[in-house]
This record gives sequence, C-alpha cells and structure tokens, in this order.
Amino acid sequence: MSEITFSSFSLAEPLQRALTEKGYTQPSPIQAQSIPVAMKGTDLLACAQTGTGKTAAFALPILHRLAELNRKPQRGEIRTLVLTPTRELAVQVADSFNAYGKHLRFRIGLVYGGVSQHPQTRALQNGLDVLIATPGRLLDLMEQGFVDLSKISCFVLDEADRMLDMGFINDIRKIAGKLPAERQTLFFSATMGQEISRLANSLLRSPEEIRIAPQFTTAEKIDQSVLFVEKDNKQALLFNILEGQLANNQRELSLVFSRTKHGAKKLAEKLNRAGIKADAIHGNKSQAARQKTLDRFRDGRTPVLVATDVAARGIDVRNITLVINFDLPMEADSYVHRIGRTARAGASGRALSFCSSDELNLLRSVERLIKQTVPVDSGHEHHSASLAARHLQGGGLDQPKSGGKGRSGGGRQRSFSRGPDRNPRGKNFRRGGRRPRPAGA
Ligand code: AMP
Repeated sequence: MSEITFSSFSLAEPLQRALTEKGYTQPSPIQAQSIPVAMKGTDLLACAQTGTGKTAAFALPILHRLAELNRKPQRGEIRTLVLTPTRELAVQVADSFNAYGKHLRFRIGLVYGGVSQHPQTRALQNGLDVLIATPGRLLDLMEQGFVDLSKISCFVLDEADRMLDMGFINDIRKIAGKLPAERQTLFFSATMGQEISRLANSLLRSPEEIRIAPQFTTAEKIDQSVLFVEKDNKQALLFNILEGQLANNQRELSLVFSRTKHGAKKLAEKLNRAGIKADAIHGNKSQAARQKTLDRFRDGRTPVLVATDVAARGIDVRNITLVINFDLPMEADSYVHRIGRTARAGASGRALSFCSSDELNLLRSVERLIKQTVPVDSGHEHHSASLAARHLQGGGLDQPKSGGKGRSGGGRQRSFSRGPDRNPRGKNFRRGGRRPRPAGA
C-alpha cells in the first residue's frame, strides 16, 4: 500500500463518504497510480490483475466526473461504457459502482446474454450514465439499433487479455469503431502480450502506462524446478510424474497448464485414456460446465486439472500441491500467476516446468522476471542434457545453476499471493444511487 490517502485525490464528497463507510483507508497501488491519471482525462494502459483493487481505480474517477456533471443523461444517451468478458464480472463491476456511488444519483445498466433483451433495451432507451456490458450481447443490440454509443466520453476495457482469450477481439473492434474518437479510454489487462499491445495501440491515445507487479509473499513456499525435455517426450514425462504423484497421495491435486484450449482438452483426454482421472478447464466451456469441473477437482474426484492461463485465473483451490507447466507461458508474468496456484495458505507446493528447445527463450524471460534461476531437475528419464547445456550457454541470469538431481539449489523461493476471487451472482440489473429503475437490463 502506498502512503497516499484517498483524500489526496480530491474526490467528490459523496465518494469520500462511501469509501470511509466501506472502511477503505488507503488506496491500493493501482488506485494510487491510476486515479490521478484517470481524473485528468488521460488515457490509461494498466497491467493489473483481479484483486488489486482495479475496479475502484476506474469506477471512482468515472463517478467523480458524473458527480461534477450533475445532470441526468438524455433519452438514449450513454456516457460511459465498461466492457467485461463475462456476465459474472459485469455484475461484480456494477456492484462496485453502486457501492462507491451509493450517495450519488446516477443511472447504471447491465447488458449481457442469456437473458431477455427487453429490460436491457428499455434501460438503454432511457439513457445511462454507466453501461456495463459483455461484447456479444452489446453488439447484438447495436446491430438491432438499440444502442447509441456516439455520446460515450469514457470507455473502459476490463480484463482485456481474458476477452482475447474468449475470442472477443473482433467484437471489441466493432464496438470500438462506433465510439467517438474524442473520448477517454482506460485499458486494463492482467498480462501484456503482443496481441494485447496491438489492441491497446489501436484504442489508446498517448496513454500513461501503469504496471502493478504481482505481489509476492515470503510466508508461502513454492519449490520450483525446470525439466528439460524434448517436445515429443513431454507427454510421457507428464504421465510418469502424475502416476507417481497419485500413487503417493490420492488426495493431492495437480494443476497442469497448457498454452492452448485445444491442447488442454487433448491432454486431459489422453490422461484419461492412460488411466489418470483428469479434466480440462478453458474458455470454451460454459460457466456451468466450468463450475462442475472445478467442483470435481476440488473434492478430488478428478485430481488432475488441465487449464489454460485465463481459465485458471478464477481457480482458488486450496490443496493443489503440484503445478506443472506442460508448456511454458508466452508471457513471463503468467508463470508467476500459474505457480501461485499452489502453496496456498502457507502450505508447501511444487511447480515443475517442462522446457523444450523452442521454449528456452521463454524460460529465460521467466528467470529474468523472477530474478532467479529455476533449479534444474535432471533426475527423470526424459532429461535432455543438450537442452540443459544450451540453456546454460544461452545465459539467463548471472547466477550459478544447479545441474544436479532433484530440486536443490537455485535462488530464493518466492510465491505469489492473489487477491480474493470474484463471487458470481445471478443479478442482471443494478440500480445506481437512489434512482429507481426497471429491473432486468
Ligand atoms: P478488485 O481488484 O477491484 O476486484 O478489488 C478486490 C477487492 O479489494 C474488492 O473486494 C474490493 O472491495 C477491495 N478493495 C479495493 N480497493 C480497496 C482499498 N483501497 N482498500 C481496501 N479494500 C479494497
């Protein structure tokens, strides 16, 4: 937490009051950095994940502006658009707006699929200060002529990386194409890969960039190691490790990361065929199917879960003792998120990363980010000594590497601790301030 207090932002009094009532004393780092930028009207590119307080980082400046404007929207006018990847997140964001803006009068509406569109179109026709929407339904209503985005003064893209992973890129571009050029854009993403950067470049104008590093704690310990293995041997190596893990302790849970949705699905199928109970979780699954998969994992019915990065973000399962990076992540940040799934609540955990020849550069990026070499585990039958040598020669960090068996040696062990998870709820329309509004948007 920073030294700055909320009062230093000069937020409108009703917002200050709501924050005091909520018991917020200090802004979180993302809030301390984003709020002054957003209040100036500058575009923002923020790299921060859920649990860092990023919702208030954009909601407070937006509500502050609405308080200053102090004028209700005209019929059909929409002032702010917040795009979120899922209905759950949309509801959560709306809840936050309502909590921070509880002493303000403003109109907020939600638009997402899976429910009747009529209450949503009615709310849109009345005019909204804040519209929170998922891309698919919004585009659908736009195509039917129910949405006028020409008055939007602030556009927020929340969890941009997750949107991309869920295949919303074209929808986002189409929606953004209907926004006025003269606007403020606030762009949030947990990771910043190439595709995200390209999208950000196309949407933002001279943005200020803010990067909130994942928080590390020393209380929890993760035993990390890298296993050099040729690509073709990865599966056999995975089977060996999981068989060993399950033979030792049936109640321990293992999370396996695959880079692609297709890869996750295929891998889970192969594990099952090999007699290892596994399931896959990825963005293509419906919320209900994902929940079922998670429940089965949590209670140990399927002790192995194969996940993609984005799908894994909502996973808060306590007894995961083993994380396996079947593929190394394209973005080094994800490594930290992944291994943070184990060693929860002070328990110890292991994180094994498979590294094949085309992943040596990814391993190097990870080591640079975590400022430590990942100890090498060469004590497995698929160990590739030539890859290990290439990594050593390629030079990651200027630190000695442990070339020996097991997970000894290496640098400090650190672990990542995540913020609280979002709590999916079934509400689909929220009321802003004291103004009553039709339900159901
Ligand atoms: P978010 O990352 O926006 O989902 O926020 C994560 C959690 O932190 C939510 O439960 C917020 O209510 C809470 N939170 C956000 N900002 C603060 C703050 N400055 N002080 C205390 N709690 C906060």
